Amino acid sequence: MPLTYFFETYGCQMNKAESSAIEGLFIERGWEGASGPEDADMVVINTCSVRITAENRIWGRLGYFTALKKRRPLTLVVTGCMAERLKAGLKKRVPAVDYVVGTYQKAEFAGLIDSVQSESRLEAIPEEPVFSFSRSYHEKGQFRSFLPIMHGCDNYCSYCIVPYVRGREISRDPEAILAEMRDLASKGVREVTLLGQNVNSYRWEANGPALDFPRLLERIAAEAPSDLWIRFLTSHPKDFSDGLLAVLKANPVFCRHIHLCVQHGSNRILSAMNRKYTREGYLSLVDRIRHVLPDASLSTDILIGFPGEEEADVDQTLDLMRTVGFEFAYMYHFNPREGTAAFSLPDRVPDEVKKERLARVIELQKEITRNLMRARVGGRARILVESVSKNRTNELLGRTERDEMVVFPGGPEMIGRFADVSLESLRGHTFRAAGAVAI
Ligand code: SF4
Repeated sequence: MPLTYFFETYGCQMNKAESSAIEGLFIERGWEGASGPEDADMVVINTCSVRITAENRIWGRLGYFTALKKRRPLTLVVTGCMAERLKAGLKKRVPAVDYVVGTYQKAEFAGLIDSVQSESRLEAIPEEPVFSFSRSYHEKGQFRSFLPIMHGCDNYCSYCIVPYVRGREISRDPEAILAEMRDLASKGVREVTLLGQNVNSYRWEANGPALDFPRLLERIAAEAPSDLWIRFLTSHPKDFSDGLLAVLKANPVFCRHIHLCVQHGSNRILSAMNRKYTREGYLSLVDRIRHVLPDASLSTDILIGFPGEEEADVDQTLDLMRTVGFEFAYMYHFNPREGTAAFSLPDRVPDEVKKERLARVIELQKEITRNLMRARVGGRARILVESVSKNRTNELLGRTERDEMVVFPGGPEMIGRFADVSLESLRGHTFRAAGAVAI
């Protein structure tokens, strides 16, 4: 009987990509995915530390796995940001955990799997001095894939734990990136998302002249097949250059959607957050994007309730949202994270005030999204078909290159293919479409 594994992955796209890479190591060794943790020989929890709520949920799950281990043997592994943040402290708090694998130990996963397979025990997992990328991040059978190009962050936004748990920025060898892209295309992948905490600061300096993010994109565009969509996440506004815009304009292989985190609309709060741009600088960048890429949609992250925030700051954020007209936004309120600069800031905004302000921000964004989407009803769009709709089995779910959701009638044979559709109406924030023509 083959050994079996089970993953629980929390948090960001980088965690999802890394779980896929580790899963590949299990598959190469003949392991099979278990239907649930109750049937698995090894459980891997890939953790997130960005919000306290995610950590609390993971503590609860570790309690469940502790109880499970009393009933049947299994190897319990914790990796990801909580593993890096707490290291041995995590095992001390939950002794049922067999291995804690931090950010700089991930290259040892293959050895860890081998040791469990051979029923031996690793006494210590070596730590590498620099982060190393996996060879492949593709999830078997998937037609969409993440492709990490850089890792870590040097920005130290005052509210963010990422630089402490992911470490300093490091860029991936462009030859490895291109090789993985070719491999993904040969496996039928139709959409690739280039991934990094701050993709715009990509820089490769070994062997010859430095390669920055726009030059990397040029190389990718030169090799990418024409039936591939390429996205990238996440862009820091301070590093988003006009040179990058020119490369995007010249190469339609890059989806017309840009996620550009603004976080706040008040200069006072942006400065306290250590974001290193101003409201005016951000709006000027948006103007340039609209001028060069008039078809592109813009999405963002908004963090409300930062210490010291006043009503006037919230008004400025609402005003910026109206001015830009983001198609979508991820909106959340400030959560103090121990170890970050903002943790000890005075003038915390009371919880009920944070929630009320956030509700206003969400309400406005819903209205903006609805209005922008309504204006597109009646047009046509190309979509990548993702899955059968959850609500109706005779309908499919797809996504435009602008990252809009579309449902339309169709059969499962279209999943993983491009199709052109007519956008006929709106249901919530999802288009209803008809007349799908597969490409
Ligand atoms: S840019 Fe700021 S918010 Fe983003 S990962 Fe880096 S420190 Fe965190």
